[in-house]
Amino acid sequence: MLVVQKYGGTSVGDCSKIANVANRVARVKKEGHDVVVVVSAMSGETDKLIGYTKYFNEIPSQKEVDKIVSTGEIVTSSLLSIALQNLGFKAIGLSGEKAGVITDCIHTKAKIQKVNQENINKYLKDGYIVVIAGFQGISKDGEITTLGRGGSDLSAVAIAGALKADLCEIYTDVDGVFTTDPRIESKAKKIEKISYDEMLELASLGAKVLLNRSVEMAKKLNVKIITRNSFNNNEGTLITNEEEIMEKPIISGIALDKNQARISMVNVDDKPGIAAELFTSLANSNINVDMIVQTIGRDGKTDIDFTIPKTDLALAKTILSDFERSSQSIEFDENIAKVSIVGLGMKSHSGVASKTFGTMAKENINIMMISTSEIKISMIIDLKYAELAVRALHSAYELDK
Ligand code: ADP
Ligand code: ASP
Ligand code: MG
Repeated sequence: MLVVQKYGGTSVGDCSKIANVANRVARVKKEGHDVVVVVSAMSGETDKLIGYTKYFNEIPSQKEVDKIVSTGEIVTSSLLSIALQNLGFKAIGLSGEKAGVITDCIHTKAKIQKVNQENINKYLKDGYIVVIAGFQGISKDGEITTLGRGGSDLSAVAIAGALKADLCEIYTDVDGVFTTDPRIESKAKKIEKISYDEMLELASLGAKVLLNRSVEMAKKLNVKIITRNSFNNNEGTLITNEEEIMEKPIISGIALDKNQARISMVNVDDKPGIAAELFTSLANSNINVDMIVQTIGRDGKTDIDFTIPKTDLALAKTILSDFERSSQSIEFDENIAKVSIVGLGMKSHSGVASKTFGTMAKENINIMMISTSEIKISMIIDLKYAELAVRALHSAYELDK
C-alpha cells in the first residue's frame, strides 16, 4: 500500500512533536507500506516569516516573499528526515521543487499544474521514506512559489492524486471534521463521513481544518481523505463521494470566517460597465471577491458592497483609489464575520432560511449581507457577535445531539 500522510503546523510544532510524528510514520513503514509524508512549517513559523517580509514594505515583492516563507516547510521536512534516520530508516527531505510540484507563476497564491513523480518514485523504489515540504512548488520560470495559507493540504492531495496513493491522511490537532469549530463550541460533534461538496463549502466558508482547494482537487482526482488527530489514534473523518454517505442531515455543519473585510462603495454611477471595470481591476491583482450586493439604483446612483480577504485589503485600497471619482465614498470595514450553515439536506427541505434568520433575530444580531447556494446559507454580521451566532445556530439545528 502507498500512504500519503500530511502533518500540519501544530503536529510538528517543536522537535518533540516531530519525534512523535517520526514514530507514527515509522509504524506505517514497519507494516510494510510505502510512505510519503508532506509537512507544514512548525506552528507560528509562517506568520513569523510573513511578519519579516512586511517590515520594510506593506506590499513587498511577492517573488521574494515566496523565497522567504517557503523556508518554514524546508526546515520541518529535513528535521523529520533526520528524526527518521535516527530511528534507523532511510529518509530524504525534498523541497516542492525536488518533489516535482509544478505551479503557475502567481506568487503567494500559486496553483499546482502537475506533479512530476519521477524523483519521488525513485526514492520510494530505493526504500526511502520521502518527506516533502508542503505549501510550495516551482514555476515554469524556475522560481519558488507558495500556494496560499494552509497550502500544505493541497500539496498532500495533489501528491496523493499523482502517485495514486491508496490513502491520504491529513493529520491535525483535532480528531477530524466537527459540526463546527470545537474551539468555538465545545459541544461540537465529530462527523464520521462527509461529502466532498459539503466539505468544500465548509472549508471555503472558514472551517480551516482543510483547505478548500485541497477538497476540490480531492474530488477531481478521486482522492479519499481522512482527517485525523496526530496526538491520538481515534478514527477521524472520511471525506468521500455523496453516494457513500447513507444519512444526509439537513445541516451538517456551521462555519465561521473572520478573515473577510467589507468594502462599501456609496453612490456609484449607475451605468453599464462600472461593475465590470471594478471587479476586473481587482481580479487582475488576483484579489478574490466573495459576496457582492448591489442595491437598486436611484437618481443614476447605486451602492455596491462586497467582501474580500482581509489580507488583500491594503492592495484593494490602492486599486480602489482609481474609482474614487465614480463613487461618493468608499468605506472599509474589517469588523465583520461570515457565519454559514451547510448541508446537503437543504436541497430537499424548506424552512431552513426562516429558521436561520429567526435564530439571528432571537439573538438580536443584525444581518448585513446574505448569500445562498443549494447547500449553504452565509451571512455577514458584526464581528463581535461571531461566536454567539455560531453557538446559537449549532443549538438551533441540534448539532450537539
Ligand atoms: P493544521 O496546522 O494541522 O493544518 P489548522 O489549524 O489549519 O491545522 O486546522 C485545524 C483547526 O481547524 C482546528 O484546530 C480547529 O480549531 C479548526 N476548525 C475550524 N472548523 C473546524 C471544524 N468544523 N472541524 C474541525 N476543526 C475545525
Ligand atoms: N505553513 C503554511 C501556513 O501556515 C502552510 C500550511 O501550514 O499548510 O499557511
Ligand atoms: Mg491547515
